[in-house]
Amino acid sequence: MNSLLKERTVLVMGVRNKWSIAWGIAEQARESGARLILTYQGDREREALEKLVAGMEDIRLLPCDVTSDEAITGLFATIGREFGVLNGLVHAIAYAKSEDLSAPFVETSRDGFLLAMNISAYSYVAVARAAAPLMTKGGSMLTLTYLGSERVLPGYNVMGVAKAALEASTRYLAHDLGERGIRVNAISAGPVKTMSAKGVKSFSDILGIVPEKAPLRRNVTLEDLGRSAVYLLSDLSSGTSGEIHYVDGGFNVMGI
Ligand code: NAP
Repeated sequence: MNSLLKERTVLVMGVRNKWSIAWGIAEQARESGARLILTYQGDREREALEKLVAGMEDIRLLPCDVTSDEAITGLFATIGREFGVLNGLVHAIAYAKSEDLSAPFVETSRDGFLLAMNISAYSYVAVARAAAPLMTKGGSMLTLTYLGSERVLPGYNVMGVAKAALEASTRYLAHDLGERGIRVNAISAGPVKTMSAKGVKSFSDILGIVPEKAPLRRNVTLEDLGRSAVYLLSDLSSGTSGEIHYVDGGFNVMGI
């Protein structure tokens, strides 16, 4: 236990189960003293989340489907009422149609493209806009991205394009919110076996290549990602904003 996030309220969006990257971050944030708010999409997801946090104190569960402006407004109204001030926001949300992750990228439909962009990129802008007024004492926001935004990983397809938009959004949000003392960053995570990752056909190949090629010769863990997130959420990173921070064992630096 450390006190890097003591007395801080942190909203974590995107915990589906104990394998979720968001859960790895939530656990480390809790270890660092944060008060947590976790979101779920609907009743089915709420039940799973309730089981996951059973017996843990100081965790508030609230609904939010990020495709709904109404749901986002409702979420932050409740947080404002119950907590007053928000210190941290973790956006760990992405979605693409399975057919857009299995067919060649050139086949991506207009609907599929817009859906992936809406949930995986625009939602960061929408929640950042709603969270900022509650960050009256400054704050830190972070999202999760992947190397497929800059390089072609066959099968990552439309999600790579959405991640490129998400990373550019991170920089523009950092610019807009910086004068309010709010920092906006992204973690570019190495591959982790999660429900979302299962949707990417080439995922097990990618997971196998990293320990062969990455400088650290291993895949990253939820603990690795959680600890880096605590760094970005805490004052340890007080001078850092607009950054895409790689937590991938160094894989991104390799040419071959
Ligand atoms: P995950 O456990 O499946 O989490 C994805 C989350 O997105 C789920 O909690 C899901 O909610 C949520 N979500 C999808 N649509 C939503 C909507 N309309 N409204 C609200 N929430 C919605 O997978 P994960 O791998 O940890 O993904 C977290 C983030 O990390 C994603 O941005 C992903 O792209 C990124 N990332 C993952 C990897 C990897 O290898 N796993 C690598 C780099 C980056 P439900 O549970 O309600 O469906």
